Amino acid sequence: MHNLSIALLHENMLDKNGTFVTTSITLLDIHDIARSVTTFGVSNYFVVHPSEEMRRIAKTIKSHWEFGFGATYNPNRKEALEHLYILSNFDDIIVHIEGKYNTQPVFVATSAKSGGEREPFNRFANTLRSNPDKHYVLLLGTGWGLSEMFLQKAQYFLEPINGFGDYNHLSVRSACAIMLDRITQAYISLSCKSHS
Ligand code: SAM
Repeated sequence: MHNLSIALLHENMLDKNGTFVTTSITLLDIHDIARSVTTFGVSNYFVVHPSEEMRRIAKTIKSHWEFGFGATYNPNRKEALEHLYILSNFDDIIVHIEGKYNTQPVFVATSAKSGGEREPFNRFANTLRSNPDKHYVLLLGTGWGLSEMFLQKAQYFLEPINGFGDYNHLSVRSACAIMLDRITQAYISLSCKSHS
């Protein structure tokens, strides 16, 4: 799925009171989501944070696994971190995608909450597959999720991952892996159908 990227956002997130906050980077999110990105053939993983200090910590983790002791200790982790880009703000994502693919990114919002016009995983997989020259960026939130401004920027609003009952508080790491698996399985089955 070369025309898909992931962005983990921290600025203008919601807190439990529904106010806008900037969350801290959870260090586990850095290499855990990078491993999912690499496993599912996603092209880029953007960790976006306005704080220079937070970005410096993220860059330290990236360089540890790419060039430091981690690179020899665990080459698989090195490979995963090669997809990671640490950016300052949302517009940097646009600059990166335009510069790399010569196309405007198509943003895809995600949330555990129900409501809104949601895009089923399988239909989004079909869109991905049918538009190889476009580049789609899944927006993952932190805290209590993406604020409305990101839903306005998004062309698609992916369906939520639902379990049983009302409890729905997956970590962003778990949610990302599940979403990518569902999209990938739908993508693969579409590819098989088109070759049968
Ligand atoms: N209650 C928040 C919400 O509804 O988005 C969950 C925040 S969770 C800690 C952070 C991010 O993980 C969400 O912004 C979303 O990107 C993703 N996420 C978590 N649970 C999800 C679910 N069940 N379905 C889809 N995305 C989910």
